[in-house]
Amino acid sequence: MAEAFLPFTRPFIDEETIADVADVLRSGWITSGPRVLAFEAALSRYLGGRTVRAFNSGTGTMEVALRLAGIQPGDEVITTPMTWVATANVILEVGATPVLVDIDPATRNIDLEKLSAAITSRTRALMPVDLAGLPVDRDRLYAIARKHALRVVEDAAQSFGAAWNGRPIGSTGDFISFSFHANKNLTTCEGGALVLPDDIDPVLCERMRLQGVQRFPDGSMDVDIAGGKFNLTDVAAAVGLGQLRHIAAWTERRRALARAYFDRIDPGLGLELPPADFSRSNWHMFQPLLPPGTDRGTFLAAMKAKGIGVGVHYPALHLFTLYRNLGFRPGQFPHAEDVGARTVTLPLFPAMTDADVDRVCAALKPALTQSRRAH
Ligand SMILES: *Cc1c(COP(=O)(O)O)cnc(C)c1O
Repeated sequence: MAEAFLPFTRPFIDEETIADVADVLRSGWITSGPRVLAFEAALSRYLGGRTVRAFNSGTGTMEVALRLAGIQPGDEVITTPMTWVATANVILEVGATPVLVDIDPATRNIDLEKLSAAITSRTRALMPVDLAGLPVDRDRLYAIARKHALRVVEDAAQSFGAAWNGRPIGSTGDFISFSFHANKNLTTCEGGALVLPDDIDPVLCERMRLQGVQRFPDGSMDVDIAGGKFNLTDVAAAVGLGQLRHIAAWTERRRALARAYFDRIDPGLGLELPPADFSRSNWHMFQPLLPPGTDRGTFLAAMKAKGIGVGVHYPALHLFTLYRNLGFRPGQFPHAEDVGARTVTLPLFPAMTDADVDRVCAALKPALTQSRRAH
């Protein structure tokens, strides 16, 4: 009998959460309400008391963060080409100019040496990305931000549950944006959360989240900014509340699975393994680089034929047509291009078993042999 398909990730929703979602659905109040407030309070507790507002996506969260940070047309915002395209798209969405800085191949995150050199008189904000859940060095990052008086919008979409200096990502720093998309370590199906710095009025954040509406005690209202439509539903918040109970155990399990991959992947296969970090990263993804000369399409198909799902996260974003049309060119960010061309995401999610890891490892050799390009 063929084994069940093993996807690269799979969300887990426990029965208690499903029951709570059913309660919300029966309650007569299904959009933003008490569950959203409870979810925001729970996130705030987890993040050491920071002010947190829930959103319907991590993309909306970042867009509002940039607006709250005062980013305007003509401003430059620095980020990495090795991220989901959302990070750069929101910079364009607020009319600012994305400035890209290549990655450090050792971490696959933005190269902080090169970052300083990319700062100009028009730079207003930095948007670091914790790829695969491995945190960007926050000490060095904030030293640069302070020196140049720049705001920071952390794209921590992938690093919920990760840590820096023993404290959860989001518990320190300027703006921190999380995504709760279905594939993220904590999910609300779709959703996000924004951690606000102390100098930002949370009421202004709420207005930008929902049409700019300002309500007064006498029942009247006014609108003086064109806010968006970014509010989370109570149905989604109920899912998030149920996930939070598991996040510590899930992060531990992810670390154990990553360790198992390091122990069991045959070094002779020539895969380049991700940075081996077992204290900071939440192991959102396990991403080896294929050996040069491997046809990735053939590799993906060979793994799929064995019932194993492998993802690609991500091609370097400056190579997308939109960004080429803005003037970016191949060859500009060689490390990001190399990672983007060779990266694969192997299965890793908390419900995976050690036997699943063995199954993936056993499939690698024949799949790689099949995918070697003829010279
Ligand atoms: C998932 C993700 C986003 C976008 O989050 P959504 O909730 O899908 O809008 C942004 N940046 C990175 C790095 C992500 O992984």
